[in-house]
Amino acid sequence: LIGSLRISVTPDCNLKCIYCHKEGYRETVSRERFTPDEIARIANIATGIGVRKIKITGGEPLLRKDIAEILRKLSELKKISVLSITTNGVFLKKFLEENPDIYLDRINVSLDTLRKEVYASIGGQDTLEEVLEGIKKAVSIGIPVEINTLVLKEKNLDEIDDIIVFANDVGCNIQFIELIETRENKEFYGDNYYPISELEKYLEKRADSLEVRRSKYDRMVYHVGNSQIVTCKAVQDPDECSGLRCKLLRITADGKLRFFMIDDDRYVFDLLGPIRRGISDEEIMEILSEAAKLSKQIRQRSTI
Ligand code: SAM
Repeated sequence: LIGSLRISVTPDCNLKCIYCHKEGYRETVSRERFTPDEIARIANIATGIGVRKIKITGGEPLLRKDIAEILRKLSELKKISVLSITTNGVFLKKFLEENPDIYLDRINVSLDTLRKEVYASIGGQDTLEEVLEGIKKAVSIGIPVEINTLVLKEKNLDEIDDIIVFANDVGCNIQFIELIETRENKEFYGDNYYPISELEKYLEKRADSLEVRRSKYDRMVYHVGNSQIVTCKAVQDPDECSGLRCKLLRITADGKLRFFMIDDDRYVFDLLGPIRRGISDEEIMEILSEAAKLSKQIRQRSTI
């Protein structure tokens, strides 16, 4: 069974992060996007293959004018136990002010640095202050925040502790993420890749206590003060997936089903095309079940 579905609702973004994997989206001429009803329909059917966690991502999801409607429809699905969004945080404060009743179990805010120059050198513009305000606003209204920090050898290795202290002060958690190589970021990757296993050695020493968390796919949780820290290893090759506990499917902004970040056309299923041609819920279920089966095979490496 698949546990998590990650849905990219737009390829558009206000930032231009030099490393961005775009959630596997490849530039196409089509500007067709799933509507809020289509997203809720897919998510509802996906609960039939075990999906209980939904993450909304982008591009920048808060750029979609109907994002509140998308979230509201998803929050009405009874079988979904964790609804979360990943955002760069620039428009977060405004969004939360305009939608005080929005339901979210968690907000992941991408934040690689607390230094303005470094922030601008990664994302192309300095909107750090807006992001920090967005994080504080979310925490102040009681929505749990997890900061997503990419670990970048030349950009922020010396800031890891500052980010931990910041998270503690504000009252949020952190996910440190290993950099994934893409077709477009090869040079940056060469300069900035840092093995997450090295950071984990540091976190083990830095943490007040350690715990293995089942709901986090048996990942280690490092407790520092009131903050919980997890790490996320880059997985982009079917061979690396073997034995993985993570049961994640993703839907890209152009309506394709994909696995992890595997950039291989053999593992891409079209969903938007068939849905626009009017397929039934049963047929959508068949596509999702096929994908779930393939995901299991990839994890067990039985056919490749
Ligand atoms: N715009 C939103 C944001 O900034 O969170 C959502 C989309 S962004 C692609 C989602 C997450 O992917 C961010 O936390 C970002 O740091 C991470 N990410 C982007 N490119 C990556 C890469 N090459 N390797 C690992 N993580 C990456």
